Amino acid sequence: MVKLSEDEWAACADDPAAMLEHLGYSGCSTTRKLRLFCCAAALRAGRHAELNVAELLRVAEADADGTAEPADLARALGRVEEYMHPANNRLRRRRHGWFKVHRWRWNAVYATFLALAPSWQANEWRSAVCIAGLETWPPDESPEAELSARVALVRDLFECPFHPPSRRVDPRRLSSTAGALARGIAADQAFDRLPILADALEESGCDDSAVLAHCRGDSQHVRGCWVVDLILGEGVWLFAEPGAAADGGA
Ligand SMILES: [Zn+2]
Repeated sequence: MVKLSEDEWAACADDPAAMLEHLGYSGCSTTRKLRLFCCAAALRAGRHAELNVAELLRVAEADADGTAEPADLARALGRVEEYMHPANNRLRRRRHGWFKVHRWRWNAVYATFLALAPSWQANEWRSAVCIAGLETWPPDESPEAELSARVALVRDLFECPFHPPSRRVDPRRLSSTAGALARGIAADQAFDRLPILADALEESGCDDSAVLAHCRGDSQHVRGCWVVDLILGEGVWLFAEPGAAADGGA
């Protein structure tokens, strides 16, 4: 069991699995958020996959949001399973030695498989932790860059579990303009509008420094960005009680 101290959480730069373990044990996550982490991390790994996984992962994202058609999900999963099936001729030819050298290519597809079928690793949380540590980079690349990119994904999807802004900011008190902006950003995945959202939030009385800094910072955002979710009132906590790690907000 991994539980991080507040300082360890703040300093964590290359251990996304530890952060996700902490979020899970603290109850500071939702199955949707964990699934979206799987999708975003699998999309990064997909650069090295032998399948075009981007289209398949859009189906997984839609499924995380509860909008995927079952037939589309089954078709996407079928594409990945076809690649991974031991009877696949291409893989059979490769059995000897290929996996030793190219396991990272296999893992890049396996990440997409888990994003589509998280129950393979028991649940969304275990799948997210698995993908977080999955070696999906070529041998001539150092792991640090990929692991720190996954940490950035965790920090975009999940608010700080020690001082969660969702305990301080009530989306019902924000202006309809801020809500409309957030809905538009989520619908279009147009995160370049986040600084405009920050202005609207300030105008409606939100001065939470973590929220405003996230909107105005230069980090990358993905579907499930915690600020957009907070404004839209998406559930941030998996359990009714936010867990022992949270301090109830500043
Ligand atoms: Zn974000």
